[in-house]
Amino acid sequence: MNHNQKVAIITGASSGMGAATAKLLAQNGIKVMMAARREDRLQQLQDEIRAAGGEASYKVTDVTSRTDMEALASETIKTYGQIDIMINNAGIMPLSFFSKLKVDEWDRMIDVNIKGVLYGVAAVYKHMVERNEGHIINFSSIAGHIIFPSSSIYSATKHAVRILTEGMRTELGADQNIRTTLISPGAVETELYGTITDDTIFPALEKLGSAGWKQLDPSDIANTILFAIQQPAHVTINEMIVRPTSQSL
Ligand code: NDP
Repeated sequence: MNHNQKVAIITGASSGMGAATAKLLAQNGIKVMMAARREDRLQQLQDEIRAAGGEASYKVTDVTSRTDMEALASETIKTYGQIDIMINNAGIMPLSFFSKLKVDEWDRMIDVNIKGVLYGVAAVYKHMVERNEGHIINFSSIAGHIIFPSSSIYSATKHAVRILTEGMRTELGADQNIRTTLISPGAVETELYGTITDDTIFPALEKLGSAGWKQLDPSDIANTILFAIQQPAHVTINEMIVRPTSQSL
């Protein structure tokens, strides 16, 4: 398959790594369907990509809604005829200590970070099976490999994504020719830290040494995603951990 004709859905495309990935894939001839809740951001990015000669569309989507995710997949097939790549990138990280009992934020993380990924897989699964090809790329995190004080719920969601993706690898690759890639970034400079409402978190992160890390740029992660996509069909990059060189955690 010529990757220049591929079609990718990217959730969480309105900022950070999702937006950087949408731009880079479009620059490389991949048609992108961008999804998130903030329409103004998606519209702006669509305009920017089209002005640069790329192919991009968007659909306002809440990944916690199965109906929205089904509609996203249908819209993509209607617009571009197929779905080759599903990038489940949308996520939130309202870190907090257990003692704060921010139970609503725990619920929200489970809904966005775990259910959102599962709904993304469910929305494209039948289509990929019918075509006997596809590529699912899920976002975990360093927090999906380790845990630190205040990261329990976030880490649990990202561990879940890692395990689910490994489970998909064991079933979907051999039986349905669907590639699965897990990407686990270290610290990346994005808006993600804006989801934190517990004001004791930032001093706690500094104690872990975060001030000394030169954070990655979202484009660094977009590059790794393009690399995984560009491999020949018989090669799957199953997992990538990408940290800033200066990150000790
Ligand atoms: P950003 O906050 O910049 O981007 C998060 C994206 O998720 C936004 O586009 C946001 O769009 C979208 N989103 C959030 N909730 C929903 C929802 N309910 N429905 C649809 N879209 C939603 O952060 P990042 O780029 O950093 O995050 C991307 C992924 O990378 C996340 O899964 C995150 O956990 C993971 N990650 C981030 C790291 C970092 O250091 N930044 C490190 C490791 C992993 P909108 O608000 O418009 O809906």
